[in-house]
Amino acid sequence: MVLFERAPAKINLSLDVLGKRGDGFHEVEMIMTSVDLADRVELNTIDEDTIEVSTDSQYVPNDERNIAYKAALAFKSKYQLHQGVRIEIQKNIPVSAGLGGGSSDAAAVLRGLNRMWSVDASSDELIELGATLGSDVPFCIQGTTAIGTGHGEQISILDSPPTCYVVLAKPNIGISTRHIFPKVDLDTLHHPNTHELIRSLEEKDFGKLCHHIGNALESVTFSLHPDVKRIKDKMLQTGADGAVMSGSGPTVAGLTRHYSKARRVYNGLRGFCNEVYIVQLLDRR
Ligand code: ATP
Repeated sequence: MVLFERAPAKINLSLDVLGKRGDGFHEVEMIMTSVDLADRVELNTIDEDTIEVSTDSQYVPNDERNIAYKAALAFKSKYQLHQGVRIEIQKNIPVSAGLGGGSSDAAAVLRGLNRMWSVDASSDELIELGATLGSDVPFCIQGTTAIGTGHGEQISILDSPPTCYVVLAKPNIGISTRHIFPKVDLDTLHHPNTHELIRSLEEKDFGKLCHHIGNALESVTFSLHPDVKRIKDKMLQTGADGAVMSGSGPTVAGLTRHYSKARRVYNGLRGFCNEVYIVQLLDRR
């Protein structure tokens, strides 16, 4: 049997760091939404009771280090399944980009195996299992638009954003979240106004949304990689209505109401960084 799942990228409309817990983890509050740039995950049943994984990307491991492999292993062990699967991932989402590509692949594997092996696990069960794999996985299980708290893994669904275009631009560097958090200085962080951002979603107010998008990690990433700030500035100069770094970067998302403006922002960035996309939000509830 063969089955396909789309694994969409996510962007952060906001990311706030609220504090540091006793166990060293940072408490975050972030609003995420999915976009229509997606990996393609193919699942094939195989005869032996093993997991095989392959990708078309040189930046992603093709073995048990791949988070998609870990997702299949966790699913098999939770539901005591003795069947085998071959996972083939076509990577379209840039790697180590702040776009949650690995988490989305893991979520796609959980959703797909649930269907393929007719386990009938509820969304909540998959979300709980996903949280053991990574803090962005629970969000990726259900997609739409949501606020994540704790490490980001406690998810509540929010209203969908107004329709808009998103220009994604990634400079030629990869950033790992775990290298950014230790450099966060809680006393000097600039906090986004999450409450007002949620109001803008409720009111479907695009101008207000653009005003309140924000990411407390920008100051850390910008100081380490000034090119990321240049990209954000360039987006705003060339007509983006709002711009925000996604996750710990380096991808910046520029929002525009109209396609013509998205095109202008896209053209302005093409010579400046090698990966630029115009995408749309997936959440059209
Ligand atoms: P993070 O915030 O965790 O760094 P990210 O969204 O910025 O996440 P990802 O593209 O998800 O970045 O992957 C980051 C790391 O995970 C890379 O080092 C990559 O090699 C590893 N990885 C393992 N499995 C995958 C996968 N299926 N897709 C992408 N990366 C994967």
